[in-house]
Amino acid sequence: MKIAFIGLGNMGGGMAANLVKAGHVVRAFDLSAEAATRAEGNGCSVHPTVAEAVQGVDAVVSMLPNGKIVESVYTAEVIGKAPPSALLLDCSTIDVDTARKVAGAAEAAGYAMVDAPVSGGIAAANGGTLTFMVGGGDAAFARAEPILSAMGKAVIHAGASGAGQAAKICNNMILGATMIATCEAFALADKLGLDLQTFYDISSKASGQSWSMTSYCPVPGVGPASPADNGYQGGFAAALMLKDLKLAMQAAASVGARVPMGQRAEELYAAFSDAGNGGSDFSGIIKTL
Ligand code: NAD
Repeated sequence: MKIAFIGLGNMGGGMAANLVKAGHVVRAFDLSAEAATRAEGNGCSVHPTVAEAVQGVDAVVSMLPNGKIVESVYTAEVIGKAPPSALLLDCSTIDVDTARKVAGAAEAAGYAMVDAPVSGGIAAANGGTLTFMVGGGDAAFARAEPILSAMGKAVIHAGASGAGQAAKICNNMILGATMIATCEAFALADKLGLDLQTFYDISSKASGQSWSMTSYCPVPGVGPASPADNGYQGGFAAALMLKDLKLAMQAAASVGARVPMGQRAEELYAAFSDAGNGGSDFSGIIKTL
């Protein structure tokens, strides 16, 4: 297929490269010349505008920083410029309402569109092992699945338009809250004189177990290799966790849901980021507890 790829940053760069490896022709655009040059090195053709990149394509994939940018790129430069037969796939993490609004505008102009945010970080984007959560109709999902499969290990239909974004922010709200709870418990265990490896051996097999503990332990030298073993560098930046928690709070407010744990996690990650730790891995919040 001929696929336009918009947004070739930390995540999009590796995703576009995997589409090339799968045999697709990838027409790339990014505002950053550096990102575009890297994409060229990975076998994409680079174009001076979005409108040119989407000429004659079968699909458009985007991986952009936020909802405002996604809305402006699609409304100003994709809709009406890409062939109406092109499938539109936005993989960015954005708010549910904007995802639905952009998909509605695309559909009104005759396009099929899905929201397809991802779970998995830069390593999964480079390795083609992302998990995609897809919102859109059955026919659009059927068309999206083979394209997304070239970039991921799992492609799950979450429901109608916006459902992919809803699944993503609900999942990451659990992650933010369980990471803080896990950090607190290790910090308390330490002050109570428990050996932290012994506490891990007990709790990882007991009811306190979670992904935050057994796949991403925030204590250096305990559990599997994780950013904690690397000075809390790499991994999933606290600023991105804060972004996702803010989206969750916005979504909760829009439907009147009570989310006290998510709200507290958002406050704690905001304080952590404000203190200059936005670039630290999100498990580094243990240092404040
Ligand atoms: P990034 O900042 O590295 O990349 C974004 C890219 O978009 C940049 O190269 C930027 O130049 C480009 N861009 C910005 N505005 C543009 C425009 N108008 N037109 C074209 N290009 C434009 O960010 P990232 O880490 O790759 O994240 C992208 C998305 O993926 C975000 O929505 C993020 O929340 C989500 N995400 C990131 C991770 C992660 O671990 N980094 C994990 C899951 C989801």
